[in-house]
Amino acid sequence: MWSDEYHKVHRNTLRHDLQSNAREWTSDYWKQKANIAIKDRLQSGCSGHGAKRARNVVLFLGDGMSVPTLAAARTLLGQRDHRTGEEAQLSFENFPTVGLAKTYCVDAQIADSACTATAYLCGVKTNLGTIGVNAAVPRGDCPASADSATHVESIGAWALADGRDAGIVTTTRVTHASPAGAYAHVANRDWESDVDVLNDSHDPQTCPDIAYQLVHSYPGNEFKVILGGGRREFIPNDTIDEEGSAGKRVDGRNLIEEWQMDKISKNVSYQYLWNREQLLNVNENLPEYLLGLFEGSHMQYHLEADARTEPTLAELTETAIRSLSRNDKGFFLFVEGGRIDHAHHDNKVAKALDETIELSKAVSRATELLSEEDSLIVVTSDHAHVMSFSGYTHRGGDILGPSDEVGDDGIPYMTLSYANGPGYRPHTPEGRFDVMKDENYGDVNWVSPAGVPLQQETHGGDDVAVFARGPQHALFAGLYEQSHIPRFLAYAACIGPGPHACQHDTA
Ligand SMILES: [Zn+2]
Repeated sequence: MWSDEYHKVHRNTLRHDLQSNAREWTSDYWKQKANIAIKDRLQSGCSGHGAKRARNVVLFLGDGMSVPTLAAARTLLGQRDHRTGEEAQLSFENFPTVGLAKTYCVDAQIADSACTATAYLCGVKTNLGTIGVNAAVPRGDCPASADSATHVESIGAWALADGRDAGIVTTTRVTHASPAGAYAHVANRDWESDVDVLNDSHDPQTCPDIAYQLVHSYPGNEFKVILGGGRREFIPNDTIDEEGSAGKRVDGRNLIEEWQMDKISKNVSYQYLWNREQLLNVNENLPEYLLGLFEGSHMQYHLEADARTEPTLAELTETAIRSLSRNDKGFFLFVEGGRIDHAHHDNKVAKALDETIELSKAVSRATELLSEEDSLIVVTSDHAHVMSFSGYTHRGGDILGPSDEVGDDGIPYMTLSYANGPGYRPHTPEGRFDVMKDENYGDVNWVSPAGVPLQQETHGGDDVAVFARGPQHALFAGLYEQSHIPRFLAYAACIGPGPHACQHDTA
């Protein structure tokens, strides 16, 4: 049973027996590959800006934020400002270094958010659908994942081990695949609460669910900041949350209460929040530990959000940075704009672009709060989508509108359309359907056209962009494995198991 409507896997062709790639099953393979890349960069002089090291590291992720998504979102941003649009820039597009990351996973040409989270947060490529474990664990193999030798640590854990603080921010459930990469070890991304583990006929005692791991296991239980959605994964199925939604858990646990009890037992200050007003107020007097769960499931799309209850990603990011900045040694923060992906899956392009612009605003807030001298900020994506940006439209043409030309059939086509997804329209007796005749054409929930009928649009296999600003930013130039990203970050911050920039200090 798949609890994630956006990522149903229909086929049974996933192969875990690619013997030619058996080396990729080990964590060391990926680590060594990254170390070679760091060495190459130092030799070519593309890094090593004096003795600069990063005290703070913020990794921003636009889930499913493909390169065409960036181009379309920046055009929309400019057009909202009554300009032609193409010349506009998202906040991070002026960062000094840009690179490209290869997103394939060990058993998959086209990635999902679980194996990629393991790559860009733990430095190891793994199998589709698995998080925080190496590729020796096939998806769904609970016993294999129970062997801690298969577990891989995240850069969040590396930061904590160095005495820095760590936190996560997302617009999805905090137990969703991307943020889970920062703290969970799990053979199936869908095991967000205990009922999901049981539904797959496994014992949650052997394979604890993701919410449980966040509250009770290292490093999640030491995160100073946890902000996002997903209350339902933390509370019992006979409990109704603050906004009237039911929980999912069948073990009777209330993990929100248990998180608070844990902080009481450690004699540290803490606060649990569930709405925007509480978030804005907490900035006045930040506790040591902060847990904010603003929705039962994912947070609302920005275009539809209730501004009274729903903070923006920029507001969440600001609170997280203010909280974590109190540690003089520094911090690691992961921030995800997680619903770009969901909107693409639904072929709802206006929402996907708006969520991208919201991520841009959050990055902008971070650049205002953090100095380029001591804070490394990296913005990337986990995988692409199959939205295409096509035609020969004139400069300033409505990015959400039709192309200047019509198809050879005389019917208009859209500048932004999808290779597949729910937006497929069957041909009429006259031929291709003119989507501009849809009743809700132009509405935020209007569904863009797609070439192949699929309940959910798929991810794309393209490379994703990586933007970097701050100490050692030049490491991120070039084209490399996605699993190099946390090792480059760790090099710059002098944390984790790899080589460190500090080893090259002249001081
Ligand atoms: Zn997706």
